[in-house]
Amino acid sequence: MRAILLNPGPVSLSEGVRKAAVSADLCHREPEYFQLQARVRQDLLEVYGCSEQDWAAVLLGGSGTTALEAMLTSLPGRDARMLVIENGVYGERIARIAEIHGIAFEALQFGWIEPIDFARVEDALTGGGFTHLAAVHHETTTGRLNDVARLAELCEAHGAELLLDAVSSFGAEAIPFDSPVLAACAATANKCLHGIPGLCFVLTRRSALASGAQPPRSLYLDLALWLDKQDQDSTPFTPSVNAVLALDKALEELRLQGGWHARHARYTKLAGRVRRALASRGVETLLPADDSSCVLVAYRLPDGMTYATIHDRLKQWGFVIYAGQGKLAAELFRISTMGDITHYDMERLLAAIESVFQ
Ligand SMILES: *Cc1c(COP(=O)(O)O)cnc(C)c1O
Repeated sequence: MRAILLNPGPVSLSEGVRKAAVSADLCHREPEYFQLQARVRQDLLEVYGCSEQDWAAVLLGGSGTTALEAMLTSLPGRDARMLVIENGVYGERIARIAEIHGIAFEALQFGWIEPIDFARVEDALTGGGFTHLAAVHHETTTGRLNDVARLAELCEAHGAELLLDAVSSFGAEAIPFDSPVLAACAATANKCLHGIPGLCFVLTRRSALASGAQPPRSLYLDLALWLDKQDQDSTPFTPSVNAVLALDKALEELRLQGGWHARHARYTKLAGRVRRALASRGVETLLPADDSSCVLVAYRLPDGMTYATIHDRLKQWGFVIYAGQGKLAAELFRISTMGDITHYDMERLLAAIESVFQ
């Protein structure tokens, strides 16, 4: 039986993507690889219609955190001051990265279950001397979709640039690329884009990266170096060639399926079916439906059932779910409906839910 991954990445792969990953042995210093690299970079820009003049996709090997750390260390200059929005594990990760690299920052902490209090963000930005605001788009800890369009407006009013962790939203949620203050977003191949793990990327405004950190804060994470080499059909280090092959195919499938809007609609439909099935068994969501992303929904553990019980019983049916994270670990379980999930998989999942929660 094929395992269906309902964790927030890696995802269940389509047959096409799985095969593409092992479809060729490519030397990364040959023209065949550089054609592939250029096509994938171009296709990444096209997911949200970003112009080639202003934007660049920079591919690098590593998990989503690699892209996040590369973005946060490469774009803010040596005298930058960053405001960090924290309302979950991934917001805390941004602050931790800034701390490790000695980037001047202030963290604004919010409850994990309530929406961001934008009045507090505005207060902090007013006279705070911040050059950058860094935030998570979809906070996967709780499934909350943070209102990044609103954050972009506040940044615009206060002269700060916006850096987004879009790792679990790129390809399925609206991202304000037309806002002049959005400087970059970090994302990964193996979440909403349905590629394989080991490859991530940063979509950056060329001008924002050109005025980034000098000297660089890191060797491997120096996005300006990766960009310079990739623009010249080269690569500074050995790339994750097989993951690039897989992402090439995954991006083709995304395009054929109707792009990110269609993926958004599909995730929304699947998440709604799961939510209704669980609700009919008395299982409540952590957040109101409107506050959640289409990618992942967090549910409260029902009385008398532990995460381990739910996990193990669903796994017997072939479905892998995800535990709560951080301080919510004892209260939650999470279900994501990313990946190549078929109609048949969904029917079986609904039957499994009925059986496990009866
Ligand atoms: C998955 C995820 C990451 C990166 O996690 P990795 O394990 O490094 O891939 C970062 N931010 C968010 C919001 C995520 O969901």
